[in-house]
Amino acid sequence: MDHTMELKVPPKWKIFLWRALCDILPTMNNLIIRRVDVDPTCPMCGLLHEDVMHTLFSCVYSKKVWNISGLPITHVIASSFPVWLMSVMANLTKEQFGKIVAVLYHLWAARNDAMWRGLLPRPNGVWRRAAGALAAYIHANGTGHTHGQPSAPALPTLQGRPQCYFDRGYRTHSGDATYGVVLLHPDGSFKAEINGKLEGCLSPLMAEALACKKVLSWLRERNEFRTPKPLAVWSYNYSILCGGGGGSIQGGFSLFFFLLAECYF
Ligand SMILES: [Zn+2]
Repeated sequence: MDHTMELKVPPKWKIFLWRALCDILPTMNNLIIRRVDVDPTCPMCGLLHEDVMHTLFSCVYSKKVWNISGLPITHVIASSFPVWLMSVMANLTKEQFGKIVAVLYHLWAARNDAMWRGLLPRPNGVWRRAAGALAAYIHANGTGHTHGQPSAPALPTLQGRPQCYFDRGYRTHSGDATYGVVLLHPDGSFKAEINGKLEGCLSPLMAEALACKKVLSWLRERNEFRTPKPLAVWSYNYSILCGGGGGSIQGGFSLFFFLLAECYF
């Protein structure tokens, strides 16, 4: 696995981010979808209905935290959390992205304080805690970077490498989800494929997530990660979404793949 894909944050932050991306955090909106009888109002502002995007970005409280952080993300406008995060990733260095994940995690913790203890920390306290926890983690685990240099990971060289493409399908009405994977030799000729159904899918994003999981398991079973030249894995939809190639973090990779790969290897 290309080391430039590594995200230096605590594993529990990655798991949190993964859950936010799959939209399986227990927000009021998601509880209501699961027929839990709750007040849909955001526990932080008490004004608007709560969903992932509201809690982590558009709530007035969260906006205060983002403003204090000084991270250059306030101009990003997106309809869903994964799209928002993609847009954010495209313009940041890896260090800045680590800070984003820290703030997201601590915003969710602040939300839980408000929800379960009736206490909402001050916005600057959330930022201080996030920045402090990240600095402590980096200090304990090492950055692997030289001081003061923004990381500029190179995009992978794809010439002469085996390629894997995958995609997923999701039917909203029936909830049927499917996936398909094609593996190609470095010269572009066909090597192998697999496809099938994805059980227990509740949304297109979940289908994307489960498809990624299938792809990784399949590639690992086949020992495809042990080839002399590293395998390039692409998801159709997200490679279009974050095209442009100027991104700091592997612009063409599926975000789910990016996170899953980190949890797997
Ligand atoms: Zn709110």
